[in-house]
Amino acid sequence: MPACLYYAQGILDFQEETATCSEERLEIRLRRKKHQCPKCKLKDVTLTILYERDVRGLPMGRIREVHFIYTLHLVYCHRCHKRSIEEIPFLSHPKARISIMLERMVLELREQISIRALANHYHLRCHTVKEIEKRDLRQKFATIDTSKVQAIGVDEIHIGHGQAKQAYLTIVRDLESGAVIHVGNGKGISTLEGVLSKLSASKLQIVAMDMANAYSTWFAEHFPKAQIVFDHFHVVKLMNDRLDHVRQRVMGRLDSVQQKQLKGLRFIFLKNNEDIPENAKNILRNLRGIFQELGDAYMFKEALRTICRVAQNAYQANLAFHRWCKLVEETLVPELKTMAKTIRDRLDGIVSYWTFGHVSNARTEGFNNKIRWLTRQVYGFRDIEYLKLKIYQLPQINCEKSL
Ligand SMILES: [Zn+2]
Repeated sequence: MPACLYYAQGILDFQEETATCSEERLEIRLRRKKHQCPKCKLKDVTLTILYERDVRGLPMGRIREVHFIYTLHLVYCHRCHKRSIEEIPFLSHPKARISIMLERMVLELREQISIRALANHYHLRCHTVKEIEKRDLRQKFATIDTSKVQAIGVDEIHIGHGQAKQAYLTIVRDLESGAVIHVGNGKGISTLEGVLSKLSASKLQIVAMDMANAYSTWFAEHFPKAQIVFDHFHVVKLMNDRLDHVRQRVMGRLDSVQQKQLKGLRFIFLKNNEDIPENAKNILRNLRGIFQELGDAYMFKEALRTICRVAQNAYQANLAFHRWCKLVEETLVPELKTMAKTIRDRLDGIVSYWTFGHVSNARTEGFNNKIRWLTRQVYGFRDIEYLKLKIYQLPQINCEKSL
């Protein structure tokens, strides 16, 4: 059995005292061969019995529940004159309830199998399986090499319900490798705590983000040499938000029949022109005739998208955005005017998109979809730390599989 203990279960320095076996459960009592001081390794120690522990080992044959029972001691070293709890070499940490070998097996299989299936198979609690994974992920992502990072993207992701700050996560990614550098709770600059030290060794030149002022001010202050870039994805996204705002405001003025009519057509207004089916385009034309403000807002949104798509260089983009703002300022739609002001205020950052060779959060949209997929999978656990750790791991996960 000792050889078996070592080769099959990774247990050294212990010997088997007794073993009792039932159909599904094998219980092996272990006794330590020799005790020593965990610090100086001196064998001249006095032992005090603390309590008995029961940890799970790897299944053996058909027996899925293999338990190791041993007595934990307090060790007093006559050289160090110190008391310490003895170390158990087959556990990854003193409070572990399963052996390192079983932990490794769980982690290996976790890449392929869901938490629930793993827990069922090994007769473990889902919580135990998840905690093993969390511990592993914490270690993996405790330090992230940012020495080659030149361009990052900062983004807020909505993960919960409502608009409360807690319903968001702020994610910082390396735009070239796609690696996740930071995941902060909530939104706003307070979520960037820790980013400064993480990026201290980087060669940061470009920070792509949405047009929230807070982040740009923070990065301008801490990374004065980095250029802020507001990429297309975020410019168009903000414009879509404004458009939806106009739609809601216009709806507020209508009677219930008209409201119903307009509500059903929300998707048309938020769609890009080329994605709207031919028959719906006629409806859209009519609607634009009836609801002037909505029509204007839609038209200017499309114009904005065209600029983003068509402009060849920073000079052209700059001219086009100026013209767009000037035309918008002549309309009577307050949401459009606010948008024009935002664009004028951030024009330098928006146009930088062309200056810096189209560096953008283009892949961010895809990544955000992956996060939404992850949130749906993980949300059952209601564990924000786990969700964050899985986001760090997300670039390596195949989203076709279930978690
Ligand atoms: Zn000692």
